[in-house]
Amino acid sequence: MRNPIFLDSAGSSLPPREVLDEVIGHLRREAEVGGYVAARERQDDLDDGYRVFAELLGAEPDEVAFTDSATRSWLTAFDAVPLAAGDRVLFSEAEYAGAAIPILRRAREVGATAEVVPSDASGQVDVAALRELLDERVKLVSLVHVPTNSGLVNPAREVAEAAHEVGALVLLDACQSIGQLPVRADELGVDLITGTGRKWLRGPRGTGVLVVRREAAARLRPRLIDLHGAEWTAPGEFRLREDARVHEIWESSVADRLGLIAAARYALARGVDVIEREVGERARRLRGGLAALPGVAVRDPGVRKAGIVTFTVDGVPASEVRDRLADEGVTVTVSTASSTLLDMTRRGLAEVVRASPHYFVEPAQVDQAVAAVSRCAP
Ligand SMILES: *Cc1c(COP(=O)(O)O)cnc(C)c1O
Repeated sequence: MRNPIFLDSAGSSLPPREVLDEVIGHLRREAEVGGYVAARERQDDLDDGYRVFAELLGAEPDEVAFTDSATRSWLTAFDAVPLAAGDRVLFSEAEYAGAAIPILRRAREVGATAEVVPSDASGQVDVAALRELLDERVKLVSLVHVPTNSGLVNPAREVAEAAHEVGALVLLDACQSIGQLPVRADELGVDLITGTGRKWLRGPRGTGVLVVRREAAARLRPRLIDLHGAEWTAPGEFRLREDARVHEIWESSVADRLGLIAAARYALARGVDVIEREVGERARRLRGGLAALPGVAVRDPGVRKAGIVTFTVDGVPASEVRDRLADEGVTVTVSTASSTLLDMTRRGLAEVVRASPHYFVEPAQVDQAVAAVSRCAP
């Protein structure tokens, strides 16, 4: 078999050496001196993590919280948005099921409505249609930046501008954009950002980050608070933290946190703009190569496209394409309708093959992957 070709940074990417060394090194240290002493030895780096992510995400260090996944970040942020009967929540058509389900569920529970913002002809969120939908009953607009099932990049800044005209909060699911694109709260103007370590950032699994802008924090009601998010000050009294860390809980994997911070430092050192260009070049090369194959359809909508490349092969189930590519050393995944039900249903798709080349994939490997797909086509 040839050198493996890894095209799944949208699933769980390959951490660089710097990340591995941090995680494994810290686990070894914990085994020598115990977790508390080991953590204290790295306190400066752990504290610096908030500054590193603030730099990466265009926020202030006290606007950053660490969690154990993008989903956890999303759930704690969403749960903290006050919602009552008659309120409205808007969400994007390409919303991830892990966000859509909690929105639908909580709306049903409190008597709010959950409504979808349609996509325009290009497939990105329709900002004009959003403006039509907005009124002061809209408390939250939830937007997926880059969906799990396509190369689309949604216009986050335009959505935030429109939503803020009626005072709605904007929650950006940046799980698929952090680490491959610049994602900056100060530039996009969104109130809340959620992301993971394991995908484009090349960090460890079981890590997540949350940005809560200060102005938004004052309007949130975080509920799942422990002794880290608040201090027990008198027998019947406690005081909540005022920064984003109110969303954290005390216990976490320190090794993974250090690995996550190392991954962010690594991305910053390479340059997020450089990464965007390198990923974009590879994705375009892959899309172009696939589009030229008979029997293969590229399925990425949108005006602006990023590093996720999705396609179908006529008459061949996506799982079979994935398995045949795996036999040739090419790692891709399958995205099924239930992960992004509205978007897939509208486009008449039950499943797509998802290939997501990071900058460490050589252009020649992209071409080899295209050749491997051509051998799957009937
Ligand atoms: C993967 C993904 C998530 C969830 O990330 P977890 O790491 O599973 O918490 C959220 N949104 C999008 C768009 C994703 O692709």
